[in-house]
Amino acid sequence: MAKKLDKILVVDIEATCWEGSNPDGMENDIIEIGVCLLDVNTGEISENRGILVKPERSVVSPFCTELTTITSEMIEEEGMPFKTACSILRKEFLSQSRAWASFGAYDLKQFQRQCGDLGIGYPFGPSHINVKTLFALKKKLGHEQGMAGALEILEIPLEGTHHRGVDDAKNIAKIL
Ligand code: AMP
Ligand code: MG
Repeated sequence: MAKKLDKILVVDIEATCWEGSNPDGMENDIIEIGVCLLDVNTGEISENRGILVKPERSVVSPFCTELTTITSEMIEEEGMPFKTACSILRKEFLSQSRAWASFGAYDLKQFQRQCGDLGIGYPFGPSHINVKTLFALKKKLGHEQGMAGALEILEIPLEGTHHRGVDDAKNIAKIL
């Protein structure tokens, strides 16, 4: 399929996490896929959405809720299987034919790892934009900044709740 270069798909995931190492038998699972589309001609941000995902190999810890504000109840009510979420990315966000962007390499690595472990097709194409690295290079910082730090440098207010994928994706799109 020809690559669609009109809009960039910006992605930010949240995953199950713990203070320190993973409890025995638990793996980090994606619990939210935040997305939006960034129009490369106009800079317009559209289709900003947070897709909640049911963890299959772990549970949402109090530490994770404190960090992300995502609760087990929210996941219970609105969460979908990871496989379904991946097919939404493919069908509704054309994730395989668009360039996609995230802040750092974490989101890419977690998708690769989780898709591999669960035997689910990787939903993205080969064109990934690492906004964290790009920002450090463009600004000649000599070191990479976190998302909040990058917004501060750009004097863009952090919109919404930090560590919610839906809001992080929009803020990353503004940086990009
Ligand atoms: P972020 O996009 O910065 O909200 O982080 C994505 C995911 O990384 C979170 O959902 C957590 O799984 C993990 N993470 C981020 N910060 C921390 C932290 N301080 N301690 C443990 N895990 C973290
Ligand atoms: Mg996030």
